[in-house]
Amino acid sequence: MPKPLALVTRMDAATEALWRETLADALPEETIIAFRDMSAEQRLQAEVAIVANPDPADVAQLPNIGWIHSLWAGVERLVAELGPEAAPIVRLVDPELARVMAEAVLAWTYYLHRDMPAYRAAQEKADWAPRDYRHPRDVTVGLLGLGELGKAAADRLKGAGFNVMGWSRSPKVFGTIETVSGEGGFDRILGVADILVCLMPLTAETRGMLDARRFAAMKPGAAIINFARGPIIVDADLIAALDAGHLSHAVLDVFAQEPLPAPSPFWAHPAITVLPHISGPTDRFTAAGIVAANIRQWRQTGQLPKTIDIKAGY
Ligand code: NAP
Repeated sequence: MPKPLALVTRMDAATEALWRETLADALPEETIIAFRDMSAEQRLQAEVAIVANPDPADVAQLPNIGWIHSLWAGVERLVAELGPEAAPIVRLVDPELARVMAEAVLAWTYYLHRDMPAYRAAQEKADWAPRDYRHPRDVTVGLLGLGELGKAAADRLKGAGFNVMGWSRSPKVFGTIETVSGEGGFDRILGVADILVCLMPLTAETRGMLDARRFAAMKPGAAIINFARGPIIVDADLIAALDAGHLSHAVLDVFAQEPLPAPSPFWAHPAITVLPHISGPTDRFTAAGIVAANIRQWRQTGQLPKTIDIKAGY
């Protein structure tokens, strides 16, 4: 009998039980026990922790885990809370999540491209106000981040006829999409994007990266979609750029504090669309299948799946 796997989350007990059941169905040969139900001996025996934003104090009570599998694709909170001494971390890389995120990027790109915020505002004033049509090939969508999610979004946007440019930390070649990197690349993408989509992780480098200086470097009338993490944007600078009319609209799915507090100026701002962190939900069943495949491969070969670079933060 293999040693137990610990499931450590900050979910409510009922949601965690659903995850435990789905993981157990995907891995019938393993014993998966929720941390809260583990005996002191089982905590000592656990070899792997399967986690979803766990309490670091709980993880500290699993001294013999060799690695950690996150159920989420974004691991910024996990990395920040567990610190540099954490066991190797594997994050969720799920093509289904990438598909759903790419669909959201396309949906809200269309929302901006086909001027839905302006038509909604016109309707409120009973104003019959047709606007000129722009062909997607004349609209440049700039993707900040060309990782698992950024690449899927780039493919989807390209397929819909948009002109797509992608920016990443290291230089990249990706199909026929124009790619840029480094500071020079950042200036270029800011200067040409009609719609800028943020799909970068939150790291020491990206925190506060989209600030007044960066907004000023963007094309007048450009719009922004943030589906990554709230603190990448300096909120007050974004509001100032929208109020000044330099940027036309922002679609925000992620915030420094979630749920977004009622007094936030974002809620009522006419040029901001607030979404409740729904652009890329994790599918419990596909995620469990991926975790199962990774754990099986490790049991059979001793090889860990690709782990994140703790120093880079993603
Ligand atoms: P990923 O595969 O790790 O890709 C990250 C991309 O960002 C890479 O292209 C990376 O560059 C680039 N990057 C990182 N730091 C950068 C920097 N300082 N400058 C320029 N580019 C930088 O991550 P992913 O799976 O695509 O996920 C991206 C993020 O989406 C996650 O971290 C999470 O925050 C967010 N997310 C949001 C939701 C939601 O529902 N809203 C759901 C899932 C994930 P290199 O290619 O050079 O490494």
